[in-house]
Amino acid sequence: MTNHLFSLIRDGVPDPAKTVIETPEGRRYAYADLIARAGAYAAALRAAGVAPGDRVAVQVEKSPEVIFLYLGVVRAGAVFLPLNTAYTPAEIGYFLGDAEPTVFVCDPGRREALAEAAAGVRTIWTLDGAGGGSAAEAADQQDGDVADVPRGPEDLAAILYTSGTTGRSKGAMLTHDNLASNARTLVDTWRFTADDVLIHALPVFHTHGLFVATNTVLASGGSMLFLPRLDPKLILSLMPRASVLMGVPTFYTRLLKEPGLTPEAATGMRLFVSGSAPLLAETHREWQARTGHAILERYGMTETNMSTSNPYDGDRVAGTVGFPLPGVSLRVVDPEGGRVLGPDTVGMIEVKGRNVFQGYWRMPEKTAAEFRADGFFITGDLGKIDGRGYVHIVGRGKDLIISGGFNVYPKEVETEIDALPGVVESAVIGLAHPDFGEAVTAVVVGGPGCPDEAGVQAALENRLARFKCPKRVLFVDELPRNTMGKVQKNLLREAHAGLYR
Ligand code: ATP
Ligand code: MG
Repeated sequence: MTNHLFSLIRDGVPDPAKTVIETPEGRRYAYADLIARAGAYAAALRAAGVAPGDRVAVQVEKSPEVIFLYLGVVRAGAVFLPLNTAYTPAEIGYFLGDAEPTVFVCDPGRREALAEAAAGVRTIWTLDGAGGGSAAEAADQQDGDVADVPRGPEDLAAILYTSGTTGRSKGAMLTHDNLASNARTLVDTWRFTADDVLIHALPVFHTHGLFVATNTVLASGGSMLFLPRLDPKLILSLMPRASVLMGVPTFYTRLLKEPGLTPEAATGMRLFVSGSAPLLAETHREWQARTGHAILERYGMTETNMSTSNPYDGDRVAGTVGFPLPGVSLRVVDPEGGRVLGPDTVGMIEVKGRNVFQGYWRMPEKTAAEFRADGFFITGDLGKIDGRGYVHIVGRGKDLIISGGFNVYPKEVETEIDALPGVVESAVIGLAHPDFGEAVTAVVVGGPGCPDEAGVQAALENRLARFKCPKRVLFVDELPRNTMGKVQKNLLREAHAGLYR
């Protein structure tokens, strides 16, 4: 038996001398370096007592070394468990207690602050943003030429915690096959080849930057320009040398503010992908007008990897997430009865396929509650499939507002508000109300010429049924967002909980 996930990468290497990762400072790594360095990490982990199936938890700054460590964990047959760099020591304490890793790798600057949180972990290593630290030193002492620990398609490769947008993060158990099959599908669907150069500016503790971006490039033998973070000017300057950009919607809105974003600047680029949060239809249109490229929006989640994508050829429809990917079954059902709904009817999105995870780590009840008897995973996202088969996400089930007994989908109201002149963006939430149960409430970011509260309400009166119109419109400078660009509606609900009381 081979190592299922690592074989995908090893077998796809075009030429060992070919560059796989390059940093803005000009550091270059060849595929041969990647394989040897991953091998050295695998050997170091084994020397530290990491057995197949053990977890290796990692909270470090982004650097190419993290990718080598990730692959080293995979080659050692262990389970990679990356953690958001924003997590506090108390949060890390929770994750380490939950996951019980054999090794924890952290930033040297936080080693002391994390000592208590990591007290139960046998081995603690450090790794900094420049790729130095005791983890790197442990790898330096090893020969990179090691055999891979055999792992089958059903073995765990990673536990990835969800973003925690709606509550406490859950650890999604992902197998070698979940990751490998999705990478293969994306290579085919998005036409990746060894000639591709991806601008990688996403964090590597999340499914988007770690699996969607990295695995797809590695499986195609392509290369990455590896940026520590989103830097619009730097991205723009790298575009002439690149072919693909993957980003969250914020990437695109920030890049649109750069005067240098022109059709000429994007000439060599063949693909712009967006996901992790809804891309405004307006951003899609503006991007096309400025660059001549239609952004390809796709939909996925930590638990399912990627489930849908707009087509490579054919219409990339703004405001939709495209079609189910090959091998993915997607249906929209009545959330209560589970009856499958017809076209254009909003309901709960459910997904089944090799892409879908094995369950939440140490949460058997939660896992059981989120799967149907026929194996479909209940995503928690509400949406519909239109007459042409395009999937539309209308928001999360948890964000659905029930006002006076009527369902209000926030996205429908947000779309109307966003279309008003002077409105930058909006978030519509439900807040406890003595008469209506929940009251539709709009939180708006206004620019020059934006109407005031009464103006917004008057403008919506003729466009939306009365029960969908916001009872109050609040103005803010910006919406609260997490690192993946997701609007944190729970924070808005908490902040304004008493508005109608
Ligand atoms: P938690 O599950 O902990 O509350 P989360 O759901 O935000 O956090 P992720 O797995 O990172 O954690 O995000 C998946 C979610 O992101 C999806 O369920 C969906 O709501 C949203 N999402 C991803 N891509 C898109 C997209 N293209 N359009 C709209 N929403 C998207
Ligand atoms: Mg989720």
